[in-house]
Amino acid sequence: MKTLNDFNFNNKKALIRVDFNVPLNDDFVVTDATRITSAKPTIIKILEDGGSCILMSHLGRPKGVEEAFSLKHIVGKVEDIIGVEAKFVSNCIGAEAEAAAANLKPGELLILENLRFHEEEKQGDKAFAEQLSKLGDIYVNDAFGTAHRAHASTTIVAEFFTENKCFGYLLEQEIKSIDKVLKTGEKPVLAVLGGAKVSSKITIIENILDKVDHLIIGGGMTFTFIKAQGGTVGDSICEDDKMELALEILKQAKEKNVQIHLPVDVLAADAFSNDANTQVMDVNTISNGWQGLDAGPKSIALFHDVVQQCKTILWNGPLGVFELERFANGTIELGNSIAEATKKGAFSLVGGGDSVAAVKQFGFEKKVSYVSTGGGAMLESLEGKTLPGIAAILQ
Ligand code: AMP
Repeated sequence: MKTLNDFNFNNKKALIRVDFNVPLNDDFVVTDATRITSAKPTIIKILEDGGSCILMSHLGRPKGVEEAFSLKHIVGKVEDIIGVEAKFVSNCIGAEAEAAAANLKPGELLILENLRFHEEEKQGDKAFAEQLSKLGDIYVNDAFGTAHRAHASTTIVAEFFTENKCFGYLLEQEIKSIDKVLKTGEKPVLAVLGGAKVSSKITIIENILDKVDHLIIGGGMTFTFIKAQGGTVGDSICEDDKMELALEILKQAKEKNVQIHLPVDVLAADAFSNDANTQVMDVNTISNGWQGLDAGPKSIALFHDVVQQCKTILWNGPLGVFELERFANGTIELGNSIAEATKKGAFSLVGGGDSVAAVKQFGFEKKVSYVSTGGGAMLESLEGKTLPGIAAILQ
């Protein structure tokens, strides 16, 4: 696996695919610069080597050239974070971009206009990728968030750098974190899968059964498993057409010696609202008119014990409707348990969508080993797929 440290960038121009798809407010001010900060170590290493950086990214979903999605809005923020003045070109390919790249001196930074102003980017167009490739000597992919897309700048462009291509520090860290869970993790390995639906997690569950010793299933997914085994789930979210699949998963887990832990009780509510009446109910006997919206106290204690036994922990998906304060406790307590296990030496990875939002909202970011920066890319990695952006560097 070729990484940044395999290269000396002295007098070299690095063409870096970053993920600067940051949120902007109505005044075009960056409201969360995490993605820019995440790319900083890669950029600094190259500049300190005596190289220059050409940064390319997409921003939002423009239809053609749309001023509102111009990367010029983020130039100031990048300068603040990297601590270096940045040049900007209003087209990512063509004569202007080529001249700007050619004139770039060691230690300088150039930001290209939004890649998605050209529809060829998402189409993975080869001629467009070749035009991009002319701008740099070494291609660096540091955009995990788009590594599952075979776009021109994330995948196809790599073909034009036979040897001179590598992962940036962020992407390297993402790959190593996933490997640490799925391939080289110290046993016992635990996956906690929560979230709303079995259907959106099924491929992950199937892949993960071969890798883990324990699997905690929580959140809305719980009720399909409970009903399939003969429980009554009241008005809880449940996918009747996935009940057979749920039984098959339980059977497979048994065959593969994976211990599955489901909630034993829930905090049930008479409405999907913070103002609802609530009561703790046995997960197998939820009355009509009531829906399980969070893990109950016995489940939280049970999950805590499982988490403390494990040395490698993957967490994807909340244990309840954490967006509503009344039903956030199970997710917060799981975060506390994982933080405690991490403090005792376990490796913990949080990845994929809403669990990342929950971890940030409740302040667990620094208390777990790694929080992934890629939603879809993380989910596809957990499904066992080789991401095209990663494969393109390895080839
Ligand atoms: P996912 O994107 O699949 O990880 O699902 C995350 C969503 O699952 C969040 O918006 C939660 O509110 C929702 N969720 C978690 N537990 C439940 C539950 N018991 N009932 C309904 N929705 C839930």
